[in-house]
Amino acid sequence: MPSKPYDYCIIGAGIIGLTIAYELSQRHPKARLIIVDKAAGAAQHQSGRNSGVIHAGVYYTPGSLKATLCRKGVPAIIDFCTRHQVAFEQCGKLIVAVDTEEASRLDGLYDRAQKNGIEAKRISAAQMAEIEPNIKGVGAILSPSTGIVDYAGICHKLVELLTAQGATFQFSNTVTGLQETSDQVIIKTEQGHIQAAQLIVCGGLQADRLADMMGLANDFRIIPFRGEYFRLAKKHNAIVNHLIYPVPKPGLPFLGVHLTKMVGGYTTVGPNAVLSLGREDYQRSFFEPVDTWRTVSYAGFWKLMNRFKLAGLSELKRSLSKSAYIKEVHRYCTEISVDDLEPYRTGIRAQAVDPQGNMIDDFLIKKTARSLHVCNAPSPAATSSFAIAAHLFETGRL
Ligand SMILES: Cc1cc2nc3c(=O)[nH]c(=O)nc-3n(C[C@H](O)[C@H](O)[C@H](O)COP(=O)(O)OP(=O)(O)OC[C@H]3O[C@@H](n4cnc5c(N)ncnc54)[C@H](O)[C@@H]3O)c2cc1C
Repeated sequence: MPSKPYDYCIIGAGIIGLTIAYELSQRHPKARLIIVDKAAGAAQHQSGRNSGVIHAGVYYTPGSLKATLCRKGVPAIIDFCTRHQVAFEQCGKLIVAVDTEEASRLDGLYDRAQKNGIEAKRISAAQMAEIEPNIKGVGAILSPSTGIVDYAGICHKLVELLTAQGATFQFSNTVTGLQETSDQVIIKTEQGHIQAAQLIVCGGLQADRLADMMGLANDFRIIPFRGEYFRLAKKHNAIVNHLIYPVPKPGLPFLGVHLTKMVGGYTTVGPNAVLSLGREDYQRSFFEPVDTWRTVSYAGFWKLMNRFKLAGLSELKRSLSKSAYIKEVHRYCTEISVDDLEPYRTGIRAQAVDPQGNMIDDFLIKKTARSLHVCNAPSPAATSSFAIAAHLFETGRL
């Protein structure tokens, strides 16, 4: 054991753990801080395997943490990227309705954007054809402040800044147990014990397992949803000028297969949302007995599946067949063919589900006297990350 305990230990070097570490280092520059991650480097899971979108905050329930912290997160990300030369672009986004039923749902989204204080414009099919000649639809919402960024780049910059300020990083070190006493938390790891006065847990896909170590996971479990992307052939690098999103399906938290300009100058399409048997099974081995058991032994999972079985089967079909996948894209863009879909990285979303089978929509944070657990941080948590970190201090949780 180290002779002197740390003031703070953070588990998880994804964007949530690192932005909290950064906020901490700004507020308490002299604090002794250690960040532990089982991966070999920062941003190896969700934070480095996402769409790279800076969400403006159109979709989220007014008054929720998602809505509030997404809106505050956008200028905070842009400020950080501008100060530290991380690539970003506010290219704007179109949410495209392809029929009258979807157009009527656009009204609801437009209303939400107003309530959330987000700039949004309704545009007609003719206006859309002018700004996006390769996209078809009956109308759209334009969100000008939506953007793109390199979230892994932000994470690597944060590691650099924190290291320069004296924070300790331990990568390739898995936390295996947590014990809180009246004056400290003992963090048991594969490489020995760490003692800290305060613990902050940002474990993403493993958030429930880490919360379980302190008896905090009785009312939720992480269910992993795979998101498969393709990179479009080079000839399509400039196929769109904005990000192109479908109108989300009612009741589902995932935003649908979208066309995303990336800061690297290419375009991706995705992600779908398929139940994943393994939480970190990016190669789709289909055999992760420990993770699979944790999912199927949870009553909430079966209730969720029962509710969404049709949507789940359609997603599975699209995952197994490129031509089924492309049909989803052809609803709003017919310029892309199956041959234009090139392999791209997969991401797996950590979605907390309650025992009644409801996907927990908002960010979920739990606390004990000496620990704070970020239990549910789905999209738009990357966009909101700097704002989440500030919020935890401003509300006295840290
Ligand atoms: C496909 C996909 C697309 C998305 N698109 C967007 C988007 O465009 N915009 C947006 O705002 N958000 C998006 N999101 C959501 C966003 O990526 C996540 O909300 C965010 O990255 C969560 O960050 P995190 O730090 O909580 O988790 P992670 O990045 O997953 O980090 C958790 C870390 O904890 C570590 N860890 C876990 N268990 C242990 C242990 N026992 N010991 C030590 N370390 C441990 C892991 O190794 C990992 O590094 C997307 C997510 C996915 C998957």
